Amino acid sequence: MQYKNTYIKNIQRVEFTINNSCTGRCKHCSEGSQPATHHLNGERAAEVLKELAKDHKIDSIMTFGGEALIYPETVCQIHQVAKECEIPTRQLITNGCFSKNRERIHQVAQMLEESGVNDLLLSVDCFHAEFLPLEWEKEFVEALRRYYKGRFRLQPSWVGSEEEDNPYNRKTKECLAYFDEFHVERNEGDTIFPEGNACIYLAEYFEKKPMNYAFKCGDALYTTPLDRVNELVIDCNGDVIPCNFPIGNIYEEDIATMLERYNPYDNIFSKALLEDGIVGLCNVVKANRIPIDPEDYYSPCAFCKAVAAYGKK
Ligand code: SF4
Repeated sequence: MQYKNTYIKNIQRVEFTINNSCTGRCKHCSEGSQPATHHLNGERAAEVLKELAKDHKIDSIMTFGGEALIYPETVCQIHQVAKECEIPTRQLITNGCFSKNRERIHQVAQMLEESGVNDLLLSVDCFHAEFLPLEWEKEFVEALRRYYKGRFRLQPSWVGSEEEDNPYNRKTKECLAYFDEFHVERNEGDTIFPEGNACIYLAEYFEKKPMNYAFKCGDALYTTPLDRVNELVIDCNGDVIPCNFPIGNIYEEDIATMLERYNPYDNIFSKALLEDGIVGLCNVVKANRIPIDPEDYYSPCAFCKAVAAYGKK
């Protein structure tokens, strides 16, 4: 579908960061040890999704956190609307540890099924297990087996690749084996990026290469150029983010107005990225005396994230 604003393509995917609070303090977490500050208003988020679905053929949504199931009602409000709008893939990623109350755990599993979640990814690895007992996750798995009918996968995080032999990956394989009796599908999982806590605790596993100055948005996995937006993240503070740079806030205006107005050339950072890639961003950073050195970062996107965070201060 061709949207009226040429910088916006059909929005195929919408991700909702439900909250930035978590039950864990994982050593691999890309968010680091940020304070918990926001949680999304479910009603408003659901309204925004409904509006978006009128103009776009959305293929998938995802809800995650922090730990999203600290607020299961919010998660379910969004999935309910996604189901009503016939969005085919409705994903949730969770660490499964949101309550110690067995009744509540079973109630939430039921709520997830009823609201229409149909692709659930459960984080299982040594990093989560350090703070969140596997028995706790097991209770949730048992509840899901009872009430939930959608796709269900274990989602590990690997240091390097799964094939790499290191103490973390060995322990993660043990954690996965803990669930063998349930015969749950296993996703190939994520490779941990050098961001947030991972830079501190797992630094020895990351090779620092010189910055790739030829980088353009869209070159890296899960990125698209800022003048061809086809995915949105709704952050837990209400910000709407195509990639790193917010274009508005759902608590301040309606999403259609925001998308109609969007012009990536209005923002000095995204303009620079579009015109000259990461070199352009470096030049803007230098010209504005922003104290961020690209060579301190493992990737162009990590550098860009630091610049966006500085811009929010
Ligand atoms: S450089 Fe920034 S805007 Fe471009 S893809 Fe990476 S994170 Fe997104």
